[in-house]
Parts: sequence; structure tokens; C-alpha cells
Amino acid sequence: MEKRYFQKEIETMPVEQIKKLQSEKLVKQVKHVYENVAYYRDLMDKKGVTPDDIKGIEDLHKLPFLTKSDLRDAYPYGLLAKPLEDCVRIQSTSGTTGKRVVAFYTQHDIDLWEDCCARAIVAAGGSKSDVCQVAYGYGLFTGGPGLNGGSHKVGCLTLPMSSGFTERQIMFMNDLKATILCCTPSYAAYIGETLKEMGYTPDQIPLKAGIFGAEPWTQEMRRNIEETLGIKAYDIYGLTETSGPGVSFECEEQTGMHINEDHFLAEIIDPETGEVLPEGSKGELVFTSLDKEAFPLLRYRTRDICVLSRKKCSCGRTFIKMSKPMGRSDDMLIIRGVNVFPSQIETVLLKEGYQPNYQIVVDRANNTDTFEVNVELNTEKFTDTVSGVTAMEKSLAEALKTMLGINPKVNLVPPKSIVRSEGKAVRVIDKRNLHD
Ligand code: ADP
Ligand code: ZN
Repeated sequence: MEKRYFQKEIETMPVEQIKKLQSEKLVKQVKHVYENVAYYRDLMDKKGVTPDDIKGIEDLHKLPFLTKSDLRDAYPYGLLAKPLEDCVRIQSTSGTTGKRVVAFYTQHDIDLWEDCCARAIVAAGGSKSDVCQVAYGYGLFTGGPGLNGGSHKVGCLTLPMSSGFTERQIMFMNDLKATILCCTPSYAAYIGETLKEMGYTPDQIPLKAGIFGAEPWTQEMRRNIEETLGIKAYDIYGLTETSGPGVSFECEEQTGMHINEDHFLAEIIDPETGEVLPEGSKGELVFTSLDKEAFPLLRYRTRDICVLSRKKCSCGRTFIKMSKPMGRSDDMLIIRGVNVFPSQIETVLLKEGYQPNYQIVVDRANNTDTFEVNVELNTEKFTDTVSGVTAMEKSLAEALKTMLGINPKVNLVPPKSIVRSEGKAVRVIDKRNLHD
């Protein structure tokens, strides 16, 4: 099969050339930010670094970091680097971990963001002859607008469904022969579940590919979605602070997401010390926007934990790859002193034959953390005897204990009793915070 790219020259540029391009852009970007953003200028002054100290990407480590709390402090206009009259759009984070932050875009910023999404769609096999159903939320959330713009750039026939109204999604998917579905993985799983219940087999579903992101999802979840929908499922990553989805995207190899390095410069740091770690180390992902005009964050700490790799990719793209972030440092629960990521629980559930419909409830009783996992019984596993349910709960609790090192209480609950997500799934209810 002929390899296809949206912007071949850039996507397959030799690494040395990418680095040179990044260096040139960085020098310009640091000047732009220093001259126009008082907040960041102060941070640089405090660190004793001036734009003249930045001669290329090798000097990046001299710059101060930005964190989400800087974004909150500077809300709403404090990090704006262009006059408001030059901006054409505002988007906002989902507020998953606290107060929302807002980001601004000039037309140039929108264009480069949509190009990044278009690269992702083409990497997933998309072209002019595809019908692209965008079932990410539209509005302040970047998912819908980003993929919508990318789909237009590719020339796909775009179906701007937004999220929700699942039966209508399915009706249009079938009537209009949607071939690519873009939404969160948890919503894709829900659409798949609904199609199955309606009696559809994978070969009756017109989709061929899905582009899923905006929340962590495991390889097991990927296989589950691929099987139910009869598609190839591609990961896409991004965050509002850097533009939105499309900061990185998967190719057919499905072994990590290529970072759009002509626009975003990535580093991995030790989240405790801030020290830059060598390629291949696991740590916190940090991004510098190289081209953005209105909201150009330098060394923004994402809190997403992953690994970068420059291993040669069979797709021909030369952009560095990031592994799937399996949860942010602040998604991590500490239960009875043990670190627990919701994604670990998802892995176990799917391996044990359950559907990815679960909720983790953490509370505190008598100064000890309580840890419960509510999991839906699915029809295939259905048993109506009390002893049958108890045995299944016990065996699942054992499997979870092997993975996590601590013992949860598993509650099997009736099918359909856990709320389905149309956007980002809410997996954790931590009641401990409510008592503080
Ligand atoms: P919020 O931070 O309020 O959720 P965003 O909608 O901007 O706001 O979400 C960006 C975050 O979503 C990322 O920092 C990351 O934690 C998560 N995310 C986005 N895409 C993926 C993905 N493909 N895999 C895992 N996590 C992702
Ligand atoms: Zn590749």
C-alpha cells in the first residue's frame, strides 16, 4: 500500500533538519514571548535568563517551566501574546482536574492546529472519499472543533454530530455511511455496546477507522473497541494549553503517537526534581509551542506521564513518538499508601472478560482508606445465583490485587447501572476529599 501523509515533506523530514527547524523557531518564539508576555518575562528575569541566552534547542533547559497553576494565576489574559483584536477563537479545558483554563487562537493558530488534526486523519487512512463522523463535544472543548477542522482540511465529508444522542449517531452512521469515527474511547465503547445490542455485527457497520483520545485508554480497551466496531482504532493526544487534539497521533504501526515536532517541542522531566531526562526515560511530558502566536506556552508541564522514543517507524514518519500516557500524575490515587492508576484496573477488567464499565470509589473509615470497585456484570457473564456472584467478585478482587498490590472490594452491579460517558469518562469517586 502506498504510504500517505497530509504534509509529506514535514512529516518525513530528516531528524537533523527537524531539530534545526525547531532551533530557529524556538529562538524567535522566545523573543516573541519575552516581548509580549509580562508574566513569562518576569519568570525569565527571576531565573536570570534573557532571549539572547537561547540560541537553539540545546538551550531550552535554561527557560523556566509553566504549570497549570501559572495558567490559573494568569487567567484570563495574562499569558496572551497578541492583542485580543488579532485573536479569533477561545477554547477551554474540560476542567477534569480543577478550574478551567482558557486558550486563545489567531487564525494562524487555528490553521496549524487543524493541520495537525488533518495529519492524524490521514495517518488513520482518511482521504477525500471518507465520511468523518465527529462525535467529540463541540463548543469550548477542543475535541469537536479540532477534528472538525482537520476533517475539512483533508476534504472528508464531515458529519459534525457532537457527542450524545447515541441512537441518532448510529442512524446517521449507517444512513450516511460514516467510515471514520472521532470521539473519546469511552464513548466509542458505548456506541459499540449500543450497536451490538441493536443486533449489528462488526461487518454491518460502515466504519473502517476510529480516532480516539482526550482521555487515557488501555490496549485492552483498544482491542475491545476494534472488535465490536470492526475497525482499526488510532490514538490521538493533545491538550487545550497547546492547542487541542493533534499534538500527537498514531500511525498504522500503533506503537505510540508521533509528536508534530515542527510545532511542538517535547521534553521528559523528572516530575519531582524538574531535571530533563534522556530519551527512553519515563517521566512528565513538557511542551513548548514553537509556532503559536496568541497563546504560546514555553516549557508547559502537562503532568502526563509517558516515554519518548525516536525508534525508526515503518510508516516513514520521522517525528518522535510518545507512549500512551496512562494517566496524569494527578489522576494517580494513593490508597493505603499504594499508587493506583484507573488504567491498571481497566486492564484487569478487560482481561477477565468484563466490559470497561466501572467506577472506583475511595473513602475513609476509621482512619483507613476504603477501596471499592463497582463493575457491571455483562450478559455473557451473567449469573443469577448469589454464590455465583460472590465467587466472581472474589476472583476479580484476586486479579486486581495481583495487579495493584492492595485488595479492593469488588461489587458486581447489574448491567447498565453505571452511567455511560459521552465525553471524558468519570472513573473515580474520591470521597476522602469531601471530608477534609
Ligand atoms: P482537562 O485538563 O481539563 O482534561 P483537556 O480537555 O485539555 O482538559 O485535556 C487534556 C488532557 O487530556 C491531557 O493533558 C491528557 O491528560 C488527557 N489526554 C488527552 N489525550 C489523551 C490520550 N490520547 N491518552 C491519554 N490521555 C489523554
Ligand atoms: Zn509511524
